[in-house]
Amino acid sequence: MNLWCYSCLKGFKETWIQVWSFRSSALLRGLPLCFALALFDAKVEGSVRFGRWLLATAPGALDRYDTAYNRWACALLHSPPWRSAAIAHMELGWGLCGRHRALLDVAGRRARLWMLPKGDMYGEVFIKSHAVPLSWARRSLTLLEEHDIPDYPDAEGCGSVQSYLVLVRSLLSSAASATFWSSCSGHLVPFPFSLLSSGPSPLPAALLSVSLPWEALMGHRALCRLRAGTLDLAHANGKKSQAKVRCCIFCNKKTWAPYIHVLGECHISRSPELRDAGELFSPRERALVLLNALPHELLFPAVARVALAIERRSKQFWDQAG
Ligand SMILES: [Zn+2]
Repeated sequence: MNLWCYSCLKGFKETWIQVWSFRSSALLRGLPLCFALALFDAKVEGSVRFGRWLLATAPGALDRYDTAYNRWACALLHSPPWRSAAIAHMELGWGLCGRHRALLDVAGRRARLWMLPKGDMYGEVFIKSHAVPLSWARRSLTLLEEHDIPDYPDAEGCGSVQSYLVLVRSLLSSAASATFWSSCSGHLVPFPFSLLSSGPSPLPAALLSVSLPWEALMGHRALCRLRAGTLDLAHANGKKSQAKVRCCIFCNKKTWAPYIHVLGECHISRSPELRDAGELFSPRERALVLLNALPHELLFPAVARVALAIERRSKQFWDQAG
């Protein structure tokens, strides 16, 4: 059983990474992020979820799920795989890591088995096989215990599988949130991430319910990338550099803080529609206002267009720089 699980998981992961690598590079690159996420949920998550309750108990499976979702989160955000997967998760609005998605499936499967009527053969085998150390029933219970998730019969106040799953999701979200914030604590560019986010972003879901121009939808990903600090906006002698003082790639002005310069005062972020966001604020304050724009705010379409222009001109600059 263990060998079977391991083989399945290995083949499963490699297959989906290949499939997703193709989709992310070829099909999804030209889609707004909110549409790409909807497609991911339907095509990738829908397929990976199949059998996850079983595969999760294989040795090393939870780490592999984490690795896969970290990689997918960075790919969806067009970030290099070595950039922060925690920030990518939060910008995508994902409240669970790969392992937490698997644990939720395990808990749900166990709850449904506990709910089988007395005398049901499948249910009886499930209950009795807890005495067998290598059985799925025992291993899945151990997984829940290791992550402080109560099994369905032990969950107080849960009168149905649905209410139990709400409780489990809440516990797993809290655990994931602690992991995310711990990982983001060192993130300082363009701002400490706590100034930009209070948790998984509501933007991807919100953008599906508002009417915005296509360019504004496309600019959403660029705005996320600016918030995550994954664009190179300054150069030193035409090359990427970690020097403290560099030059803006758009106006060549020397700056200590390229993001604040570009978003706060550079001509690339000036727009007639953003006049209200610029006159009363310092460059730092203006940059913060732009990065925290929400879809229902009047300035969001203009902010998204500016973000898209910055992303495209940045790519153009570095392509020409070689
Ligand atoms: Zn500039």
